[in-house]
Amino acid sequence: MGESAENAGQRERMEVLSRAVIARCRAMGFALAGVCECSPSEHAEHVRAWFAQGRHGSMAYLARLGEERLDPRRVLPEARAIIVVADQYAPRGDASPVKRDGVGRVARYAHGEDYHVLIKDRLHALRDELIAEHPGEHFRAFCDTAPILEREHAQRAGLGWIGKNTLLIHPRLGSYTLLGGLLTSLPLVPPREQERHEDHCGSCTRCIDACPTGAISAYSVDASRCISYLTIERREPTPPDLREKVSDWIFGCDVCQEVCPHNAPVRAAADDERYAPRVNDAYRGPRRGLDLLAVLGWTAEDRARELRGSAMKRATLEMIRRNAATAMENQRRAAGEA
Ligand code: SF4
Ligand code: SF4
Repeated sequence: MGESAENAGQRERMEVLSRAVIARCRAMGFALAGVCECSPSEHAEHVRAWFAQGRHGSMAYLARLGEERLDPRRVLPEARAIIVVADQYAPRGDASPVKRDGVGRVARYAHGEDYHVLIKDRLHALRDELIAEHPGEHFRAFCDTAPILEREHAQRAGLGWIGKNTLLIHPRLGSYTLLGGLLTSLPLVPPREQERHEDHCGSCTRCIDACPTGAISAYSVDASRCISYLTIERREPTPPDLREKVSDWIFGCDVCQEVCPHNAPVRAAADDERYAPRVNDAYRGPRRGLDLLAVLGWTAEDRARELRGSAMKRATLEMIRRNAATAMENQRRAAGEA
């Protein structure tokens, strides 16, 4: 057999293996799955400039691991490929969360069970199966838990394009998705039929125009102004010039996704009930928001009980009470009481 025929045969075998891995991910319930080569970021200069401008706010841990983020092989030196997966946590056109007096809005991804657990449980199961079939190969799972530029690799793995709001957008599913993946030494390659998505933002600027804090410039978000950062990551008091703009968001913000035309309603809906809002009588039905007065009265035990199993447990008692106080003040101001 000539060398090129041998190479073609080897490529074919790698594609067969890659297809089998992708099919297994889909069978595990992931809405999207793909593979890409494990290679350094193509946007290193942009990432370095983002940190240099202080757009990460007080998230010093991001800056500390800044260089690691640029090359996933620094996380797993043996890695040759990345398996990237996505869950859809809300359907396109999802109408919640709505503004309601006395309730602080919560970003959709935190309405149900904690996505870190949901995604990593399946990634670990996949890793264990692959180790059993390919002893000696190396794997490392990630889901917001390793310095990996998840969106860039997701784009390379055919899961969508990165919009001007910096989120991954899939032409059929929209952007209400969460990412995870496995770094692996297995020689996986993108199968030839794996989709590649062009940028479909075009001349649209809806997310830039709608962002309450003006945090978005095309393809870049100033995290230090983003409500998600202000309510979830920042431990210090909210900067005075941004307090009113936070409105009634108490954990995260979905505005730049709500206005995106690629999240407009379609008939298909997310079907994983674990991402559905958790029913809780104390908070007037499904947990699309939190009762502000109740949160202000929470003890450490209340917080632990109410946020158990939720991504919202990232917010400390002090942070969630601060957010509730800000949301209440903004609702009163909007109602002309303050
Ligand atoms: S999450 Fe909210 S504050 Fe952050 S960039 Fe999007 S619209 Fe702006
Ligand atoms: S709102 Fe428009 S510009 Fe922003 S991400 Fe969606 S399509 Fe792109």
